[in-house]
Amino acid sequence: MIFVFICYTFNKDPMKKNNRVKFKTIFLAKNFSKNRKIDLLIKWGKEFARMGIAPETKGNLSFRTQFGFIITGTGTMLGNLRPKDFVEVLRIEKKKQKFTARCKGKIIPSMEGLFHNEIYNLRPKINAIFHLHDNLVLTKGEKLKIPCTEKEQPAGSLALVEEIRKLLKKRKNIDYLIIKNHGVISLGKTLLKAKEQIKFFNKQAKNKK
Ligand SMILES: [Zn+2]
Repeated sequence: MIFVFICYTFNKDPMKKNNRVKFKTIFLAKNFSKNRKIDLLIKWGKEFARMGIAPETKGNLSFRTQFGFIITGTGTMLGNLRPKDFVEVLRIEKKKQKFTARCKGKIIPSMEGLFHNEIYNLRPKINAIFHLHDNLVLTKGEKLKIPCTEKEQPAGSLALVEEIRKLLKKRKNIDYLIIKNHGVISLGKTLLKAKEQIKFFNKQAKNKK
């Protein structure tokens, strides 16, 4: 028997509410097949938190699977991830302005899962996406000539997904970018590549006068 229940994501901040994408999650199963990459992300999440680039519940990590992608759930802390904080997104469908995510797991995917989904569609060779709030890179990004989205857009909005899509369409070879006044995204063919770029640019920013 297929286990189905539906959750809606809500936003407590009324100022931002209108910008956020209406997102419905349908869980097709409570569990997805075990994946040892999750153990790596649990370990690296702690490392990112220690670096100060994953404050509170900010940032999200994902990797591609045979069926879709596995991503950290909404409201999870990268510094304290547990196996149950991950969810497999099989498909995201869009009808008019409403989105439905079909998932396996027990937690609602991060609302920023929308741009992870977009990037996996745009870049078939990319297998890992890490999004972190690296303020040091944000302040030094221009000096370091790191590609940046054009306009600031609210987190979780469709406009933000569109900004990222535009930049990746224009600059087909980039695999590290800044979301204006928000954070960074690192894309990797492997998880290790995505992680190394996060550390590399953090170090570059630290050393830049
Ligand atoms: Zn973010």
